[in-house]
Amino acid sequence: MTDQPTPMMAQYLAIREANPGALLFYRMGDFYEMFFEDAIAASAALDIALTKRGTHLGAPIPMCGVPVHAAESYLLTLIRKGFRVAIAEQMEDPAEAKKRGSKSVVARDVVRLVTPGTLTEESLLEARRHNFLAAWAQVRDESALAWADISTGELRVMPCPRPRLAPELARLAPRELLVAEGVDLRELARDAGAAATERPPSSFDSVAAVRRLGALFRVDTLDGFGSFSRAELAALGAIADYLDLTQRGQLPLLRPPVREAAGGAMQIDAATRRNLELTQALSGGRDGSLIAAIDRTVTAAGARLLERRIAAPSRDLDLIHGRQAAVQHLLDDARLTADLRDALSRVPDIDRALSRLALDRGGPRDLGAIRAGMTQAVAIAAMLGDDRAPVLAEAARDLTGHDALIDLLDDALVAEPPLLARDGGFVAAGYDTDLDETRALRDEGRGVIARMQADYIAQTGVQSLKIKHNNVLGYFIETTATHAEKMLAPPLNASFIHRQTTANQIRFTTVQLSELETRILNARDRALEIERGVFDRLVAAVLERAGPVGQAARALAEVDLAAGFADLAASEGWTRPEVDDSRAFQIEGGRHPVVERALKRQGAPFVANDCDLTAGDVPAIWLLTGPNMAGKSTFLRQNAIIAILAQAGGFVPASRAHVGLVSQLFSRVGAADDLARGRSTFMVEMVETAAILNQADSAALVILDEIGRGTATWDGLSIAWAVMEHLNAVNRCRALFATHYHEMTALSARLDGVENATVAVREWEGEVIFLHEVRKGAADRSYGVQVARLAGLPPAVVDRAREILTALESGEREHGVGGTARPVALIDDLPLFRAAPPVPAAPAAKPTQSEVEARLRALNPDSLTPREALEALYDLRDLL
Ligand code: ADP
Repeated sequence: MTDQPTPMMAQYLAIREANPGALLFYRMGDFYEMFFEDAIAASAALDIALTKRGTHLGAPIPMCGVPVHAAESYLLTLIRKGFRVAIAEQMEDPAEAKKRGSKSVVARDVVRLVTPGTLTEESLLEARRHNFLAAWAQVRDESALAWADISTGELRVMPCPRPRLAPELARLAPRELLVAEGVDLRELARDAGAAATERPPSSFDSVAAVRRLGALFRVDTLDGFGSFSRAELAALGAIADYLDLTQRGQLPLLRPPVREAAGGAMQIDAATRRNLELTQALSGGRDGSLIAAIDRTVTAAGARLLERRIAAPSRDLDLIHGRQAAVQHLLDDARLTADLRDALSRVPDIDRALSRLALDRGGPRDLGAIRAGMTQAVAIAAMLGDDRAPVLAEAARDLTGHDALIDLLDDALVAEPPLLARDGGFVAAGYDTDLDETRALRDEGRGVIARMQADYIAQTGVQSLKIKHNNVLGYFIETTATHAEKMLAPPLNASFIHRQTTANQIRFTTVQLSELETRILNARDRALEIERGVFDRLVAAVLERAGPVGQAARALAEVDLAAGFADLAASEGWTRPEVDDSRAFQIEGGRHPVVERALKRQGAPFVANDCDLTAGDVPAIWLLTGPNMAGKSTFLRQNAIIAILAQAGGFVPASRAHVGLVSQLFSRVGAADDLARGRSTFMVEMVETAAILNQADSAALVILDEIGRGTATWDGLSIAWAVMEHLNAVNRCRALFATHYHEMTALSARLDGVENATVAVREWEGEVIFLHEVRKGAADRSYGVQVARLAGLPPAVVDRAREILTALESGEREHGVGGTARPVALIDDLPLFRAAPPVPAAPAAKPTQSEVEARLRALNPDSLTPREALEALYDLRDLL
């Protein structure tokens, strides 16, 4: 038998070939089916049954499927596992295909390509996070990064040379990065948590970009949006092209591109973000991150705005001060803030509803979301009034002027609109007379018939007249033969039309009845059709006001964020930082919000600490020493976090704070601490440290934690020492430097602007007690040995360590700090380690086992007579 593919399989294969690189969801009735390799991959990824259907080239065709109504959750799993999915729908009614012939296949086509960066469905998106699609383009020696969140309409672009790409991707954390074929950015993308998608060079063509963007924004020229470089156009164009490909011509509702100023935000690189756990904890999730500890917003858009602000704290003093004033205003008016937050908590995700409506993927519930959001907007505007802090007053202005739209939606929609338009039932009664009648017909068909029957009885005087229904005639009027004569004669015969005579009944119809019948039969379809029409008109009305509605959504997010910061400040006792363009960094009573929160759960207090990196006019460096576990890293990080929060426009966890604008923030941890990432080596640490020394300007804030510890002691100390000198002499920036090399404390005497600080501990009965208190001055010793004991190192090892430490320390006193080759000499001096288990039960007077061992070792069996050997044995036994 020749194994020709069936017509359906031929269609499948054609669509499959036209959509490489994606799983094909092939619509068959109520299922999306997958075949061949797709089926094998998807069944494994989704843990669903793999079956077979027919044969292809002599082999059975593997197949699996997911029901259409549950497709979203399967899509989510597939996208999370890194797949892309092409969705092929039936483009016509199967009945249409039948008409063309029995062999004819229902027309199908891909209506959408689902990729990580182009999601819009509520269930596929994280409500409180952005979902960015980014594109990086290079045109000659220029390059640019563009990014869009089609679920909220944001579109931005900035010049971005290759070295800036990693930090910018770290900031944005896009889900998908578009790059031109041959530009290998896979690793970079993976580090930022994005899927890299290669696109043909034509997709990045800057001339085509102008055309694509023009089509996207329905404008002839882009001049109105500002002027963009070739590289910027190319990156924006690549995004437009990809949206066209994935959305199959449905244009998402993007706002015109905005160029992000390169110097507008505090620069924070990827390692620093990771280390400070700004938006993601080291463990990977949001839990345990800074953002999770400080997020008091009550709307999804507010949470997304918070993430943006924390990811890119501003360097614009006016902006920062304006935002602070809004928080202050709300902090001073607790009543207003409570009311605002209450109203805000009823605001749905307007941005995402709007984007779904624009992509024709929305439903009545999205219209309901716009109505609810705008209704709250008006209420919130009224609460805000216009004599508030300028940021709030401006928000209030954006929140008003939506009355006509609200009225329209209020009139048109039921209270709780359903998710899908498909089944109708969302248009409110009384909105459309035609619809009301149609629905009445559909729902009360019997009632309408009964009323008509009563009318006909009155009209004819025939009491036994009935309106009946059967499958052959449909609706008909029936009377007995005796009464029929009257109806067959004028004037009644003008309206009653004879249809059938049976043994003793005569059946009629009327024009009204047959019209009514058609209307009843069509009522359901008709009601749906009218609703669909109303839906389309409502969507059009919303989209017509998409600009102002989006503006209101942003204003709501701004108010939510300010109210969230105010709530946080009120409940946690945070203060308004003084931010200016000095080089000051003075924190009194600073705290680490995440550590404090964790301690609070355990009922432990957090010890607040001061930090002052302002030594006169020179930015100072603090050299922080203290034993492990004392709280050095916590102190370092809390100061970086305070700088971030201050420039994000929020209040800070301190009793007083003065922060001179920080241009760049760097934070590094020694290799040993970073091992969790699995690839950290001393080399990586050094490369990163080099980057800081090469980049940090005088307005930077640098935080170095145990730099140099990934190598041998003396190497490490030398490196740490040299790094410190460079920061002090060349970078001249504010810095905090934690180290366990006590030798470095000597530097403060030699370098202007370097000060010693230590995290205090107290020793009590041989135990260390961590006070977590940062004080000026150097730690006298490291207490590492005590900490080792706390960690459960065997007592013998701890004792031995103490012994070596004493010897090392006395050596140090004799020879001065960092005396050359001291450890080697000491190793020669020290007696060897004796692995002796402790004997707690032995009476004090008895010799220890090690003495038995010592005597045993001293014996020379070869020189003993048998009798001496016997005596030695008795002696040894007596020692036990
Ligand atoms: P180090 O960097 O000196 O090894 P960490 O900063 O990692 O120490 O702190 C160790 C632990 O001490 C933290 O997990 C926290 O529980 C506690 N800690 C740190 N700083 C403080 C503080 N200021 N107040 C109370 N507890 C603290």
